[in-house]
Amino acid sequence: MLLGAVCTRDCGFCAVQGGVPAPASPDEPVRVAQAARELRLDYVVVTSVTRDDLPDGGAAYFAATIRALRTACGEGNTKVEVLTPDFGGAAAAIDAVVAARPDVYNHNVETVPRLYPHVRPLADYRRSLDLLARVEAVDPSIVTKSGLMVGLGEEAEEVAAVMRDLRSVGCRALTIGQYLQPSRAHLPVTRFVPPEEFAAWREEGLALGFQAVASAPFVRSSYLAREVFERREAVRDRRPGADG
Ligand code: SF4
Repeated sequence: MLLGAVCTRDCGFCAVQGGVPAPASPDEPVRVAQAARELRLDYVVVTSVTRDDLPDGGAAYFAATIRALRTACGEGNTKVEVLTPDFGGAAAAIDAVVAARPDVYNHNVETVPRLYPHVRPLADYRRSLDLLARVEAVDPSIVTKSGLMVGLGEEAEEVAAVMRDLRSVGCRALTIGQYLQPSRAHLPVTRFVPPEEFAAWREEGLALGFQAVASAPFVRSSYLAREVFERREAVRDRRPGADG
């Protein structure tokens, strides 16, 4: 996770500390890449806290880290997935990350739009969809991915609507998992969703055209990220003429 442990937002579900972050470390991208090389990682997920205090939201750090990973681990040897904040919707910030060519660009919508004021008060559902649409438009060779938690008060039809919205902007991989309350100060779990419902959402997602859907109680946005990526590759290869 880049750019420190303190976030400028304060989402009701998230255990990351909110507040005023420390200045970023310019050598962080290179240190992350060195660690990945020493650990001989073949799949790296790079994420960050939200840094609304930085002019570009930290996009340059994502881009520099992707490039440092390519240099340290060898072009093509290590797959890189980024899980970015929304950068306040700034096109230049999104484009800077896309230009560094991650293999997967993940940005989570997290929940259904009705619950945003409650769950993600400083985020905007449409802005998150637009981010994914922009990645698809600028570089369709990058796999777009998103995810949401359930058990926060959403209705099943609202989850289905989110899936349709994500497909409408071209999003190709999806994760759905059970929300768990990190502490008593965080939003309560409204419902523990049975595994059959997760399985049904997976089928629904695949029917909508997602190339990979991980949907189960313990799924998180980076859960089996490499397997989700490879499953998506297998689906794409079985569909002659499909995108990607
Ligand atoms: S923006 Fe991300 S890191 Fe920050 S509080 Fe929300 S979910 Fe947590």
